[in-house]
Amino acid sequence: MITEEILKFIEQEEEKITTEFKKIEKNCRINSQKVLEAFQKNDVSEGCFNSTTGYGYNDLGRETIEKIFADVLDAEDAIVRSQFISGTHALTVALFAYLRPNDKLLSISGLPYDTLHEVIGIVPNNSSLASYGITYDQIDLVNDDFDYEKIQEYLKNNKVKMIEIQRSKGYSTRKSITIDKVEKVVKAIREVDKEVIIMVDNCYCEFVETKTPITVGCDVMVGSLIKNLGGGIAPNGAYIAGRKDLVDLAGERLTCPGEGREVGPTLGINKSLLQGMFLAPSVVASSLKTSILTAKCLEDLGYNVEPKYNEHRADIVQNIIFNDPEKLIKYVQGIQMGSPVDSKAVPMPWDMPGYEDQVIMAAGAFTQGSSIELSCDGPIRSPYIAYQQGGLTYEYGRLGVARAIEELKK
Ligand SMILES: *Cc1c(COP(=O)(O)O)cnc(C)c1O
Repeated sequence: MITEEILKFIEQEEEKITTEFKKIEKNCRINSQKVLEAFQKNDVSEGCFNSTTGYGYNDLGRETIEKIFADVLDAEDAIVRSQFISGTHALTVALFAYLRPNDKLLSISGLPYDTLHEVIGIVPNNSSLASYGITYDQIDLVNDDFDYEKIQEYLKNNKVKMIEIQRSKGYSTRKSITIDKVEKVVKAIREVDKEVIIMVDNCYCEFVETKTPITVGCDVMVGSLIKNLGGGIAPNGAYIAGRKDLVDLAGERLTCPGEGREVGPTLGINKSLLQGMFLAPSVVASSLKTSILTAKCLEDLGYNVEPKYNEHRADIVQNIIFNDPEKLIKYVQGIQMGSPVDSKAVPMPWDMPGYEDQVIMAAGAFTQGSSIELSCDGPIRSPYIAYQQGGLTYEYGRLGVARAIEELKK
């Protein structure tokens, strides 16, 4: 139940965020134009909605989708596949595709996303990069920005094969990294090392700004289709975009050496991926508006939020810092109650595969684990932060948040 009182409160808050909404709408127009032009340039036709089975040779839709992703992301090439189970899987494929025994991987945005710890070998696993003799090091952010000098110094003194930059904050307390900062660090890296492969984990960042990591000089970027670029329509999958040689290497790793990108049946999803990309700019805009509304409401209710409603955003994630496990749990349960699917389910903290702390997760989504749909999660550890993102339309996002506030007030 959403009371009149809460709806009135939300309407008042909406009056105070119109300037921010205008900026979101402008970005949405620019990104929509880019998508439409990519559809037209690559001649999307009804034939692209057909699909292949078995080996998946000569799949017109798949090839067209990959060209569209490349164009939209300012990249030379892209591989976009449902055979990537998730963003983590695509990142894993990229890491294993580019790194060889005795190579070094360097993260310059601190500790990578939880699910990559076993992939890299930060948490021991018999199939990790470390088990193949690939070494890892990391340079932490300083005041939420790159440690430019330390990075340059490190590259002068060490042979590094690959740098990883994770833009979105994951389950950390830092800020997400804007494209301007990525541009600045790429320049700093290239002053001392022209060879190192710069890979960006771009999860949650697509279409939030109008430039991509590739626009500003990164070699390759990776993201999930159950986040921004799937537009809430893609049933699963992920992409890797960037330099053609690197995209091809990822294909050889995803399938098999020699077959690479030539295989991969699409099993009926081409139309969904195209429609998802078509809707993605406005779905991302709806998510951003939902986040801005959340930031404003929760801040005015006395909670710490990050980012603030009027801060420049790098991704769609909104944090609410509850400093209290009960409040975190209540809010997340409220988001679930405000969802279209499984609204009667009551989420509880659980041990999720790949994550070290217990996590509570509201996921009343059409697609399992989809976080471009309104979703909210948080590890049960101090300072008890909710990580909220998504909202397929602003109107539904707004109702979900209203429901969660209602729950929090109980
Ligand atoms: C979501 C996310 C991932 C992993 O994506 P999954 O599809 O959940 O495996 C990796 N990095 C960041 C920053 C993310 O937000």
